[in-house]
Amino acid sequence: MRLYAMICGRVRCRQAIFLPEAEKDRYVDMPMPVFLITHPEGNVLFDTGPHPDVFKDAASRWGGLAKAFAPVGDESDGILKQLEKIDLAPDNIKYVVNSHLHFDHAGGNQFFPESTFLVSKKELAWAQTPDNEGKGYFKADWDHKLTYQTIEGEHDIFGDGTLKIIPMPGHSPGHQILRVKLEKQGVVILSGDSVPFRENYYEFVVPRNNIDNTQAIQSVHDLHRLIEEENAFLIHGHDPGQLDEIKTAPECYT
Ligand SMILES: [Zn+2]
Repeated sequence: MRLYAMICGRVRCRQAIFLPEAEKDRYVDMPMPVFLITHPEGNVLFDTGPHPDVFKDAASRWGGLAKAFAPVGDESDGILKQLEKIDLAPDNIKYVVNSHLHFDHAGGNQFFPESTFLVSKKELAWAQTPDNEGKGYFKADWDHKLTYQTIEGEHDIFGDGTLKIIPMPGHSPGHQILRVKLEKQGVVILSGDSVPFRENYYEFVVPRNNIDNTQAIQSVHDLHRLIEEENAFLIHGHDPGQLDEIKTAPECYT
């Protein structure tokens, strides 16, 4: 098995959205990562990044949210161009796991009509709630002719313990992470937006953009237990310091 990290561009926003103590006028260019895991029974993609059109015209996809979240990059940062770096096309992807269905994590969903999407039942229901349209969720991202397999609780994708989806709600109702067990590297945790920056994990700083702070803090405690028990390598969802340091495709973890 191999784990590839790919950065689907960046998005400029106020640091205080994620770290409320940060100075108000401090901006950060947050990477939007996706991950691809090769498994003998099929390739698995974790998140699909933003739709590549946002780099030309963010408001056309994100409406008013584009004022607070300004994409930095170009179309070559889109998910399909990233997969080309490792010679993969959409029909090589068996499963797509969406950590959640926000615009920076599910914007490329439509490019994978042959794949099975493993998404939390609660998350899909939340995205389908009309009141939530435009609040991080856009039908244009997720509402396509796609195969959504909804899951509840933990889910061992291939039944062999190598790729396990674990619920970590709080940022969104059905937010989930992926535990990847590699031969050399050991356990890697792809944590999505449960702990987007290092401070959210190590200092228990609660971001401003959670749907449920009590759940979010519980998830951070659950993550600590999981990571300490297995001496796992934690990959944050948007931390520029960390994501600029890790190996990115075509390099990989094995
Ligand atoms: Zn995000």
